[in-house]
Amino acid sequence: MRFVFPKFFTQLFPLNPLIKFSGQRIFLPFYHAIQGKNSLPHIHHLYRLRSKSQFENDLDFLLKHYQAISLNQLLDHIQQKSSLPKNSFFLSFDDGLKEVFEIVAPILESKGIPATIFINSAFVDNKDLFFRYKASLLIEQLDKKVYSAVIKNQFHEILKNHQIEGKTLKVQLLNINYLNKNILDKLAEVLEFSFQDFLNQQQPYLTSGQINQLLRKGFTIGAHSIDHPLFNQLDMQNQVMQIQESTQFIQHNFKVPYKVFSFPFTDYKVGSSLFQTIENKKLVQLTFGCAGIKKEQFPTHLQRFAMEGTDRPAFQLLTSAYIYFFLKSIIGKNTIHRI
Ligand SMILES: [Zn+2]
Repeated sequence: MRFVFPKFFTQLFPLNPLIKFSGQRIFLPFYHAIQGKNSLPHIHHLYRLRSKSQFENDLDFLLKHYQAISLNQLLDHIQQKSSLPKNSFFLSFDDGLKEVFEIVAPILESKGIPATIFINSAFVDNKDLFFRYKASLLIEQLDKKVYSAVIKNQFHEILKNHQIEGKTLKVQLLNINYLNKNILDKLAEVLEFSFQDFLNQQQPYLTSGQINQLLRKGFTIGAHSIDHPLFNQLDMQNQVMQIQESTQFIQHNFKVPYKVFSFPFTDYKVGSSLFQTIENKKLVQLTFGCAGIKKEQFPTHLQRFAMEGTDRPAFQLLTSAYIYFFLKSIIGKNTIHRI
């Protein structure tokens, strides 16, 4: 949950002392895509993206308070204890979307900021579509097209038969999860909406060619699971399989000399046994969550900060997060302990 204090209040606290006293010298912001001129119906009903100018402002703000570091610098720091700039930020992007290639990369290149892109092996080259994007596309379709009573009935019948709950149709569609995601395909069929046509026409994901170009420009890549499950819904065997196979896909196709992984959705309620297995079997070198500014029990697991889902300026978001970190430190709740 994001906690944002009012602007006037955050303006009372200069950021640099907050960073210093928190001891949290590495800030790890992450995004998915940037809103350009084209509408993104697959994301539109899920969360709010930063616009190009908001993103540029975010970066300028970050560059004022931190130095950008690369994945290599971060890996060396965690593994070899090499030193980092006093305040540093490590930027990453989840879900392997084409906007990273088209909009983000040129901006980052012009500002000299490195970044890591976490991709889903099942979606690269637009082979398949994330189930949440399917939900968003169906919501969009229901919004813009008028359907007959017969079709609407069929649609409701499917949701009812699968006991999908929610006050509105939108909520119901967003309540469909990884384990029952096939319902979305049935619903699309009823609406005569083709996810395959969407993939072909819109090409929402990065292609292998684009990923190779990004690698040549100095960007780095990591795995974000095979097909974006919620990890706490999977048993241990499937959790390991998702990490292992998506990482092997990257090793095999892109020949990068490092292995990193960001948890899809959240690492919330992911047990310590998985982190122990990752370490023992050397599945990957570093893993990333998205719980904000938090300390972790496992030194090779780092928490990142979501910059999206709000229009507030970076100053307000970061200052709020650091103040919140202080408040939580009073009650000793800043470290994530796993069972
Ligand atoms: Zn994701």
